[in-house]
Amino acid sequence: MSDFAKTKSIFHLPEGVIYLDGNSLGPLPKATPDNIGNMLTNEWGEMLITGWNKADWMGQPSRVGDRIGKLIGAAAGSVVMGDTLSIKVYQAVSSALELNSSRKVVLSDNGNFPTDLYMVDGLLKSLDAGHELRLSDPDKVEESLSEEIAVLMLTEVDYRTGRKHNMKALTEKAHALGIIVIWDLAHSAGAVEVDLEGCNADFAVGCTYKYLNGGPGAPAFIYVAPRLQDKIRPSLSGWMGHEAPFAFDLDYRAGAGIERMRVGTPPVIALTALESALDIWDMVSMADVRAKSIELCDLFISEVEARCPELELNSPRDGENRGSQVTFKFNEGYAAMQALIAHGVIGDFRAPDNMRFGFTPLYIDESDVRAAVDILADVINNKLWDKPEYKQKARVT
Ligand SMILES: *Cc1c(COP(=O)(O)O)cnc(C)c1O
Repeated sequence: MSDFAKTKSIFHLPEGVIYLDGNSLGPLPKATPDNIGNMLTNEWGEMLITGWNKADWMGQPSRVGDRIGKLIGAAAGSVVMGDTLSIKVYQAVSSALELNSSRKVVLSDNGNFPTDLYMVDGLLKSLDAGHELRLSDPDKVEESLSEEIAVLMLTEVDYRTGRKHNMKALTEKAHALGIIVIWDLAHSAGAVEVDLEGCNADFAVGCTYKYLNGGPGAPAFIYVAPRLQDKIRPSLSGWMGHEAPFAFDLDYRAGAGIERMRVGTPPVIALTALESALDIWDMVSMADVRAKSIELCDLFISEVEARCPELELNSPRDGENRGSQVTFKFNEGYAAMQALIAHGVIGDFRAPDNMRFGFTPLYIDESDVRAAVDILADVINNKLWDKPEYKQKARVT
């Protein structure tokens, strides 16, 4: 059994705060500052440029990628780190389109996170080859699949509602129609059980600052199925993905396997922060994390519905169809969330009226859920949100 009291003690959680926003930015693991400090002092400071070999900074993107791979059902050598998720989306879609070059449609759903759609839109405009980005409703994806579609690109867990797609069923159905499938695991990695190999996924991408606690701007990951790795052409053909970066050839030759998805110099400090955050996963099983997360979300839903009748659930009620977050709609959701934060419960707001709460068993327990609902009920039922200072829109919501 995973010991969640132990994992909770491993995070720095500020006094007087209940943190229900780990789905946006995970909290700081207590070991991270020392681990970064050691890297700075003992590696960068002492080794200088020799650290690329001596401390194997060069191997870090694959080393960390393999550790993430274990959390998402990917074999060693099929995940590599670098850049941001937006960039990884671009790489996956461009390579996938080339694998299916006789078709011109990328299908996604209108619940997808906008940057994924923006990146595809920009890519298709650059290709200028008659491609189309088509969006279906999330619950109509299956019926929208056809032999016209080159690439199906979906985010497994909807960032707004937490609605979870059936990865295995959709991948199977798409493959039967000759479609390449890309899964965005931004709200899945570290939150729900993912089995990329078992689903026979083609590509997957994700970020590491949400449920993986890598810190603000932590590098993203990309997975390419081993059967495809040597077939794909990287559209971002940077020197770190070259077969021999230090041969300094004038011509690009793609590196072996997943290494070709690297682009430029790896962010060693950020990867070190992420690497130390991954140690926590050695102490727990993802099955336990998932089961506890469903329990916490169910408890939150039933308590909020009992005590805050003005709030309307905007997440699937059945835990199996939901990620690790719960969303409630409320007309004054923005102001209510600001008031809630001022009273020590941090969640976030997603336009137009969604109050979003993430539940992470690694550092949230039942008593946190109950205490958070007490404060939420006070904010809503006593209209504590109805103050001008809570209605001022900040740059980040
Ligand atoms: C959080 C998130 C992103 C963020 O992309 P970045 O490039 O890391 O800023 C992209 N896609 C999805 C689905 C997300 O949830």
